[in-house]
Amino acid sequence: MASPLKNSILLVGAGPVGCTVARVLAELGYQCHILEARDHIAGNCYDTFDKHGVLIHKYGPHCFRTDDDEVFQFLSRFTKWIPSEYIVKSQINDELFQFPINIETLEQVFSKKLDKESAAELLEELRDNSITQPANSEEFVLSRIGKRLFEMFYKDYTSKQWGRPASELSPSVCGRIPVRLDRYPGYVEAKHLCTPEEGFTALFKKMIDHPNIKLTLNCAKDHWREELPRHQATVYTGTIDSYFDYKIGKLDWRSLSFEFKNYQTELKQPCLQINYPSKDFEYTRSVEIKHITKQKISSTTVSYEYPKSKGEPYYPVPAPKNQELYAKYQELAEQELKERFVYFCGRLAEYTYINSDEAVKRALDLSAKIKDQLS
Ligand SMILES: Cc1cc2nc3c(=O)[nH]c(=O)nc-3n(C[C@H](O)[C@H](O)[C@H](O)COP(=O)(O)OP(=O)(O)OC[C@H]3O[C@@H](n4cnc5c(N)ncnc54)[C@H](O)[C@@H]3O)c2cc1C
Repeated sequence: MASPLKNSILLVGAGPVGCTVARVLAELGYQCHILEARDHIAGNCYDTFDKHGVLIHKYGPHCFRTDDDEVFQFLSRFTKWIPSEYIVKSQINDELFQFPINIETLEQVFSKKLDKESAAELLEELRDNSITQPANSEEFVLSRIGKRLFEMFYKDYTSKQWGRPASELSPSVCGRIPVRLDRYPGYVEAKHLCTPEEGFTALFKKMIDHPNIKLTLNCAKDHWREELPRHQATVYTGTIDSYFDYKIGKLDWRSLSFEFKNYQTELKQPCLQINYPSKDFEYTRSVEIKHITKQKISSTTVSYEYPKSKGEPYYPVPAPKNQELYAKYQELAEQELKERFVYFCGRLAEYTYINSDEAVKRALDLSAKIKDQLS
């Protein structure tokens, strides 16, 4: 077997994690080789022009936001930004409601004027205060806003999204969505809420444009097995169970399919995202990314999202059996680190849902750790 080349790093996956670690270590003088199974870089942040010339997000809409200045400054080396507004509405019986729920949503549902105090009183009346320690997402929402709002905005949306009722999901799943006692119209608040001016793919392309970085696209999913012994260290960003050939079991993922429809009009919907909580629609949301890319083009493309249990891994399924299995894989991963300098990082390798800014943060931290451990 060939002995590892000194100062050479193998990166499995050209997503945000693989590209970030490669760039940081390349600048420190390491030779970095990125292997990517797909025919493109940028991982799930990948964007591309469809046949109508509209910039689309192939693996689901990505709205960048971060409170982390280090991440923002690092990414800003490779892109300029356009300010974003992440506006979401829920369509219920042909009516659009502000979502996440805020004072305006409550005014529309209950047909009365409210201020912060009266909205808080209303929620106090609506909430189920018999639930003191919610055991699942349904109980969590009931304890916070009560049955009527749960049924309107959460119940069927959650079961369409996850393929199981909110009563079978941990409180954190619905708990992530805020309920606001103000009129802020956005889905999220962040210090930096913006979109790369030329798109995510262009950003990551610039990031890995460095003489010490080599990229191989379209590689077989297990090609890394051949390459690994030739490198001093490996950063693996694929699914952790696939690394170990699923030897102790397979982790569950929730997947999605996307239907892209082009419309010969400037804009098709009033905001970036519309949620469809009703079971009358098979899809969960429609997203018109042009609201944030602000592309100047006469037509527009909207994506419709259909959740499913098989396919590309998108969301880890928050069930105890998966957490237990992942913990066992983590033990195996620790062993790999000790024996072969393999680092597992990113949403697939750490079996976690993280936004792209968190992925970049983890990659920056990991690069510092690799530098310390290898020098
Ligand atoms: C539907 C959806 C919506 C999202 N929306 C947002 C959003 O609005 N804002 C936001 O900031 N983030 C969003 N994210 C999260 C964002 O996509 C991730 O945080 C980010 O892509 C994680 O980067 P990563 O490098 O860990 O993984 P990935 O982007 O998944 O990249 C991993 C790469 O590794 C490759 N790979 C895997 N196994 C192998 C192998 N064996 N050999 C070679 N290559 C391999 C894959 O093909 C992939 O390209 C969203 C995610 C999803 C699923």
